[in-house]
Amino acid sequence: MSYFDHNATTPLAPAAREAWLHAQDDAWQNPSGLYGIGARVKVRLEAAREQLAPLLGCAAARVVFTSGATEGANAVCAHLARTLLPGTLVAVNRTEHPCVLEAAKFFLGERVVWLEVDGNGVIATGQLEKLLASKGVGAVVVMAANNETGLLQPWRELARLCRRHHAAFFCDASQWLGKLPAAGLGEADWVIGSAHKFGGPKGVGFVLAAEGAQDFHAQHGGGQEHGHRAGTENFPGVASMVAALIEAETKKVLLETERLHWRETFERAVSTALPGVRMVGAGAERLWNTVSLILPHGENTRWVARLDKRGFQVSTGSACATAKDGPSHVLAAMGCSPEEARRMIRASAGWETTEMDWTKLVQALAEVSVEVKPAEAVIKI
Ligand code: PLP
Repeated sequence: MSYFDHNATTPLAPAAREAWLHAQDDAWQNPSGLYGIGARVKVRLEAAREQLAPLLGCAAARVVFTSGATEGANAVCAHLARTLLPGTLVAVNRTEHPCVLEAAKFFLGERVVWLEVDGNGVIATGQLEKLLASKGVGAVVVMAANNETGLLQPWRELARLCRRHHAAFFCDASQWLGKLPAAGLGEADWVIGSAHKFGGPKGVGFVLAAEGAQDFHAQHGGGQEHGHRAGTENFPGVASMVAALIEAETKKVLLETERLHWRETFERAVSTALPGVRMVGAGAERLWNTVSLILPHGENTRWVARLDKRGFQVSTGSACATAKDGPSHVLAAMGCSPEEARRMIRASAGWETTEMDWTKLVQALAEVSVEVKPAEAVIKI
């Protein structure tokens, strides 16, 4: 079985599993308890914050543990809506994950100005510069890496550009973390991440809050997370998430060049095996693990089902997409037609994926291509 859906969710990394079991066995008590053991869990929770912060290059006080990126996106957008001066606009990339798009629409409504992307999905920096120069924009929202296409946005440049124009920069790093080095992400004012995307457990993530945002509240209630997020702290989840990221940073991201080579070899082989196939975002830098293909013919759901029968799990796009969703908003923003979008499949590898798994996926695609015939060919038969 070859799992090629790591952008949806990843298996628990061994270090993360060990950290979780260890914490769940001997540090499961309430970190806010006034007894000694509670205080000891609190110390370990704070140590985890101190371990995470330097990986991203920021102060530990900016780290707020959450339940995942969706909570983070909602909390950051709600905070921007509450704190930006009346009339200030927020520039939002059209190809964000639905959790950012929908939170921005809900909390910021008419204040949203949409940022366009080019045919590869890269943000139109010219449009952004003009918007920032007009002085009406108080915040900019652009992800680090796209979940559907793997496209990398120039987030470092965007963070600096926003700083020069005194606009807050909010970066969803969910797909970047654990795949590429996290260093420097702390330059963004707001960052969100989700542990299960990088070998950690589900139901835990974090927000890097802007420097000095004392009034940031991801959830209201008790005073946990230094007053930034109410709710009993999930220390085993946090310990496991931090262990996963440390493992990725110290052992895995070093292999990035080799893995990129495997993806490129796969792309060349697939182009030969499936004449007429198109690689989404081929002209731009993308994650080493992600390939989005516009197949030459046939609905993507038919390809996914047939690949599944052969033991390959791929997806039709985003983790949240279901059959009732329309064609991908990401591909639409990149100028693809709805018909092309319905022919798109995404293969996203993990660190445990081998070069042979990629090779076998090419073979499986070639076999399925014969089974899923173009509509004309079916009629002729
Ligand atoms: N942001 C991106 C880029 C994602 O890919 C995802 C999940 O697919 C999320 C945010 C939401 O993460 P979660 O479902 O863990 O909250």
